[in-house]
Amino acid sequence: MSGTDKRTTSPFGGTVDGRTPTPANRFGVDYAAEAARLGAPVRPIIDAHAHINGARASAIWKQTADAFGVVKVYSQTQLKDASAVRGVLGDAVEFIAIPEYMSEDREKSFTTGFVENLEIWADEYGARCVKHWAAPRMWDVANEFDDPYAIAAIDGAWRRRVADRAAELGMMMMAHIADPDTWFATKYTDAGVYGSKNEQYDRLERMLEAYDMPWLIAHMLGSPEDLTRIADIMRRHPKIILDTSATKWQVRELSKHTNAEFVALFTEFEGRILFGSDIVSSDEHLRPSDPDSPRFGVQLASSEAEAYDLYASRYWALRTMFETDYEGESNIADPDLMMVEPDRYNAMSAPMLRGRTLPDEMLRVLYGDAAEATMQAWFDSHR
Ligand SMILES: [Zn+2]
Repeated sequence: MSGTDKRTTSPFGGTVDGRTPTPANRFGVDYAAEAARLGAPVRPIIDAHAHINGARASAIWKQTADAFGVVKVYSQTQLKDASAVRGVLGDAVEFIAIPEYMSEDREKSFTTGFVENLEIWADEYGARCVKHWAAPRMWDVANEFDDPYAIAAIDGAWRRRVADRAAELGMMMMAHIADPDTWFATKYTDAGVYGSKNEQYDRLERMLEAYDMPWLIAHMLGSPEDLTRIADIMRRHPKIILDTSATKWQVRELSKHTNAEFVALFTEFEGRILFGSDIVSSDEHLRPSDPDSPRFGVQLASSEAEAYDLYASRYWALRTMFETDYEGESNIADPDLMMVEPDRYNAMSAPMLRGRTLPDEMLRVLYGDAAEATMQAWFDSHR
C-alpha cells in the first residue's frame, strides 16, 4: 500500500513510457495504449453520471470516451457551458439540470434562480432530469441563509419547490445523498451541524414517498460501504436506480466486499445499476491555476495531457474493476486513506482495486442496456 513505489511496468502489462507518477496515473502508463489493450467493451458504454464542462476540456473528455468505448454521457454541466458542450458533443450528451453552484448569489442559485433555470434546461437543452445535491457539506453553505433546512436537506421546502417545477416539466429526479463513511469519521464528526449518515436516508425516503417518478441515486446510493443498506432501500423503492460513479470512492469500498457479496448485489438489482464515472471536465484543468484563486480547490490537472489522464483514469479503473481479474493497487491516488490514517498513508497512496470479471451479459446491462431502459426511456417519452 505504499504510495512511493515507482513502477516501471504497468500491472496490466501495457507499455510504460517512463512518465512521472501523478495522482491520476500512479503507474505512469499511457492510458490510450491501456484502453486499446482492454479492447472494445461488450457494448458501447453510456456514462450516466459526469460533469462535462469547457469547450476544449469536453473535446479532451471525448478523446478518452472514444478510447474506452463510451458513446454517450448524462452530464451535469454548468449552464454557462451547456451550449459549448453541446456544440462539441452533439447527440453524445444529454443534460441533467443543476443549480449554478459557481454563482455569486448562492442563495438565489439554489432557490428562485434554480426554479427559473429549470425551464431553460428543459426547453433549450432537453433536460428531463434534475439533480438534488444534498451532501452534508451543503450545510456549510446553507447555514448562511435564512432557512438552512429548506435548502440543505433533501426534503427541505426549497427542494420540494424545485421538485414540483421539475415534475411539471417532465423531469425525473436525481440525488446525491450522504458521502463516504471516511468523511463522516473525519470532517462530519459534528452531528449537530451535519447530522448522521442514517438521517440522510430518512429524509431521502420522505422525498421518495412524495415524488413518484424514477430517482437516480448517485454513487451507489452513497453507500458502497454497506451493501445491506443498498439492498434494503432498493427493495422498498422499486423506482430507485443507482449509478456507479465517484470512481475513487467506489473502487476503495466496493473492492472490500467478497466476490459473492458484490455479484449478489449486481445480480439482484441488474437493470437498476447504471455505469457512471463522476468525471468532472473543465477548461481550468488545461493550464496551471492561479494559486490565489484556486477555483476547484485542489489542482487536479494543469495541462491537456494531465486532463486526459485525469478523465481516462476513471474509465480505466471502472472497466478494470468490472471486466478483469486484476487484484492490486488502484491506478488513482486516494487522499481519503491519508485523511483517516495519516501515519500510514501519504498523498499518493491508493487502495486495493479488485477486478470482478463480470459475465458479458451482466456487463451489457451495466454498461448501457440499463440506462437505455430507464433514463433514456424517460427522456424520450417526456419530450
Ligand atoms: Zn457528480
